[in-house]
Amino acid sequence: MSGRDAEEGEAGTGRTQLHGIAASPGVGIGPAFVVGSRKARVPHLQIEREDAANEVKRFRAALRLTQEQLEAIKARLPHGEHRQILKAQQMMLRDPDFTGRTEALIRERSINAEWALSLVAEEVQQTLGQADDEYFRERRSDVMFLAERVLRNLTGESAAEISPPVGAVVVAHDLSPADMASLARADVTGIVTAMGGRTSHSAIMARSLELPAVVGVEGLLDDVVSGDMILVDGIHGRVIVRPDPAELERWIEIRDRYEAFEDRIQKDHALPATAQDGQHVALRANVALVEEVASAVFHGAEGIGLYRTEYIFMNRAEAPTEDEHYQHAKEALRRVAPYPVTIRTFDLGSDKTARILTGGDEEEVNPAMGLRSLRLALRERELFLAQLRGLMRAALHGPLRIMLPLVSGVNELKQALAVVAEAREQLHRAGMAHDPDVPVGIMIEMPSAAVIADLLAPHVDFMSIGTNDLIQYTLAIDRENEDVGYLYEPLHPAILRLIQGVTAAGERAEIPVSLCGEMAADPRYTWVLVGLGVRELSMHPSAIPVIKSIIRSSHTEEMVELAKRALAAGDGHCAEAVVLQVMRERFPEHLEHGAGDLPAPGVPGAGLDEPPPGDAVGAPRS
Ligand code: PEP
Ligand code: MG
Repeated sequence: MSGRDAEEGEAGTGRTQLHGIAASPGVGIGPAFVVGSRKARVPHLQIEREDAANEVKRFRAALRLTQEQLEAIKARLPHGEHRQILKAQQMMLRDPDFTGRTEALIRERSINAEWALSLVAEEVQQTLGQADDEYFRERRSDVMFLAERVLRNLTGESAAEISPPVGAVVVAHDLSPADMASLARADVTGIVTAMGGRTSHSAIMARSLELPAVVGVEGLLDDVVSGDMILVDGIHGRVIVRPDPAELERWIEIRDRYEAFEDRIQKDHALPATAQDGQHVALRANVALVEEVASAVFHGAEGIGLYRTEYIFMNRAEAPTEDEHYQHAKEALRRVAPYPVTIRTFDLGSDKTARILTGGDEEEVNPAMGLRSLRLALRERELFLAQLRGLMRAALHGPLRIMLPLVSGVNELKQALAVVAEAREQLHRAGMAHDPDVPVGIMIEMPSAAVIADLLAPHVDFMSIGTNDLIQYTLAIDRENEDVGYLYEPLHPAILRLIQGVTAAGERAEIPVSLCGEMAADPRYTWVLVGLGVRELSMHPSAIPVIKSIIRSSHTEEMVELAKRALAAGDGHCAEAVVLQVMRERFPEHLEHGAGDLPAPGVPGAGLDEPPPGDAVGAPRS
């Protein structure tokens, strides 16, 4: 995923192109401002046994000071997302695993607070490093930054605030929330870090600050020195260091066009996604963290179409409680009110593992077809019931919908609905306030479910097509396997027919049909999907304005016509050519800029300019 593509010189000389993870969309161009290592000093001292109480006191004072500093940083930050990250760090400061163990070490080993804290921080980081899930591995840097701050407060060393010049691209090994707070006020044009993934705090913060960012760039600091001109392509995850003059000029033009276009479409974010003939298409957001809801609102989402709840389960010793589910859902509803929130019950297993579940611990030969998702929920009935009860209680606070993933057929659906009924009954018996009529829908992600959508529809309140898995299972291409990514054809006639069948079944049963796979975020496919009868599209928040702008200037009739032509094309490549020709002609800017932050690689014409060499093949990502 990341690494060096071409190297034509030593650091500071010659053009170099690097690849990383596209963390925040946009194009940033400017001189690099390299943030050097600022590790705090850790004095190692053996103390007298009777001094331990004083040392603990000193440690507690440093913790209090750290709390105050984090509070002050929080106050400087503009959006909710940042604050959540800092809040989490403040909670960590009260976590007995972190602070209690440090105090125990001071007493047991008679060592100074700095030494004890560094040992504990290292241990916690190691544990997180073994997590199955990227999100929790990324929390290592949170622990590191927190420990560094406490260490500085112990030694009295001050952490220099980074103050990059106006227009710079900030290049760092990693950036702490405090660094990001400084950047919120500095006028920088982009961020590149060697560490991090899509869910690392710097990535989340960059998205909410709307700063183009690429993270997880291997070899970054070997290749860049301060002052080097640098291009950040936050759409494809590309970083070009010391571009040649002609390339630079071309990219300045691309950036200017991108920004002008973004400004134009963002202006309309609050307008409804209604076609010229009055046909409305609800555009909703896919989120996995409650912190992402702010971005959904900012980009004009009419609610959350897919709330992935897997993160709540990952890397923890105890399963989440009913109350945690309740609080999460209630908070999401509050943030996106008055719009609905569709919460998918846990879709664990396969690519989304969690240690607390049996299925996550066992090595499966074929996990994509193994004990995952709804199958796992039916087996782990107590966890499933707790989540359902939490959601039904939260539904009293706003329009919540429960969505069941990976349903294979009527029998399995009936089993799941029986668990829903049991959760309802349990709440009733316990006298807990809840909404007994919360709508329950299903994801259509398997060919079997799509083919029998007419048999499933009468049992549910809505259906949502998950094309990421539907394409994986229909075309038998592992979505994580780049070697078969070239077979990824969203317009394969099999996929188009399945989508059409599902929307027709929904219409007959008079229930809404949504589509929440990555296809929904791709401006090339908007006409085809609406033309096939999809009336709700759910996507990552930043893709919404582009898709909305397309719908607002289109007619349903022309969308239906293009869908028919795609269906008649006979194979995926021909359909792609037909659709691309029409969409490119009609929406050149939308197609150029609109692939968003999770481009589907392997499909020609994704996003800005020519795709990077590494994007020639690849599978869709969740
Ligand atoms: C899908 O399969 O299309 C989907 C939206 O679910 P996920 O990507 O979380 O598997
Ligand atoms: Mg899926």
